[in-house]
Amino acid sequence: MADYDAIVVGAGPGGSAAAYWLAAAGLKVVLLEKKALGRDKVCGDGLTPRATKALVEMGVRPATESYHRIRGLRVLGADREMELDWPSLSNFPANGLVAARAVLDADITRRAVEAGVELRDMTEAVEPVREGTTVVGVKWVRKEPAEGGGVIKADEGEILAPFTIVADGASSSFGRALGIKMDPSYPLGLGIRAYYQTDRHDDDFIESWLELRKDDLLLPGYGWLFPLGDGTMNVGVGLLQTSKRDLNVNLSRLQHDFIDCLPKSYGITHESATGPYKSARLPLGGSIRKPYGDGFLCIGDAAGMINPFNGEGIDYALETGKLAAGMVSAALSRGDSAELHDYQTALRDIYGGYYRLGRLFLKMISKPELFRLMCGIGMRSETVMAFALQVLANLGEDNGGKMADRAFRGLVRAAEKGLDEYRDPEIPTPSGAKVGAGVS
Ligand SMILES: Cc1cc2nc3c(=O)[nH]c(=O)nc-3n(C[C@H](O)[C@H](O)[C@H](O)COP(=O)(O)OP(=O)(O)OC[C@H]3O[C@@H](n4cnc5c(N)ncnc54)[C@H](O)[C@@H]3O)c2cc1C
Repeated sequence: MADYDAIVVGAGPGGSAAAYWLAAAGLKVVLLEKKALGRDKVCGDGLTPRATKALVEMGVRPATESYHRIRGLRVLGADREMELDWPSLSNFPANGLVAARAVLDADITRRAVEAGVELRDMTEAVEPVREGTTVVGVKWVRKEPAEGGGVIKADEGEILAPFTIVADGASSSFGRALGIKMDPSYPLGLGIRAYYQTDRHDDDFIESWLELRKDDLLLPGYGWLFPLGDGTMNVGVGLLQTSKRDLNVNLSRLQHDFIDCLPKSYGITHESATGPYKSARLPLGGSIRKPYGDGFLCIGDAAGMINPFNGEGIDYALETGKLAAGMVSAALSRGDSAELHDYQTALRDIYGGYYRLGRLFLKMISKPELFRLMCGIGMRSETVMAFALQVLANLGEDNGGKMADRAFRGLVRAAEKGLDEYRDPEIPTPSGAKVGAGVS
């Protein structure tokens, strides 16, 4: 006898969004989070208009009203600097946001709880419960703070539900226990960040530095400065590492050198850091080839859903959370789990071409000469860079629009043609692609 309609493992943006949409559909949902509400997460804290839209759809307002608003991207490279507003589109808001993850993630989780989700924090999903090959529940362990620091096991048990949504992030230990594997031929990113006190904290642009170097070698990645509006900036470097290339880079050294190369006027120094460097991995471009199985679906980073163009994954975690919740609701109302197969088809339809384009882009920028040439050409033309921003942030009109929107859709359609080489033989051929589209 099931205790819940669905179990969600992990209360990051993906898990909380999935839980919210399930509860909004009237289902009984439990959300397990191994850490306490308000936990930190290594991230750049940047929210594009795509992520902003997903938050607004969930009604995370009024919390988002207090986040720092961003009108666009300042990009520096090839000895030039350019300020680009987010594109003006009918299907996305014209602003982005920056919010510390400890705040953002807790706000999304609270929204899920408001919708009726039962949150169990400090509770880790340790093992799936199976009937034959089907996942029918989760074994959990609850921890509590120990006297003198650390945590101790307080309780353990088992809960049953016909469906489990796996949203346990990039390391996805629960996903691995289910046999989920990342395709090693796909790119994997690496990022490091720290917070710095600076007068530039209320800049209304996020900033990217395109030329990241190890000695004289131009690296496939960028440095970022994302203002939080609270006296601090999130500053970091990210390497969008391609699969076969071991860059052998010391990330802490790279961050140290990036801080050293910033203009003195920024007032960002090693001494102005408010805490230590923290780093983490970024599973890029749909690197989990089969993110589902009998009784479960993986979403967000656990499904390898980070945008390979720029390393942002909050929006894709929110969107795949909503998509998976829709599949589970449909499966429950029809009384069978055939819809779970449709999940992978939907992922391919919505993101397949775009992510393949991103992987091709990464291959190109991993060749230093080509990357230098692309930066040089791009930074000479605001039109080219405005188009690049649209593509990199996956922002375009679904239909019609300007020439840039049509060109973007054309590029994605061309990339879709090559998708068969990544085909999972179990999945039927996708029916018509929704290019650059949101999940609606
Ligand atoms: C350095 C860096 C910079 C980045 N910058 C940006 C950025 O600026 N913008 C952007 O959009 N994206 C960025 N990303 C990517 C973004 O952080 C992720 O894509 C996003 O957090 C994915 O959300 P998620 O819900 O899938 O996973 P997570 O946010 O990782 O959440 C997973 C949750 O599951 C919990 N959990 C794990 N295992 C268990 C278990 N067994 N039981 C219960 N709970 C469990 C974890 O504690 C965690 O709370 C960055 C990533 C890195 C590493």
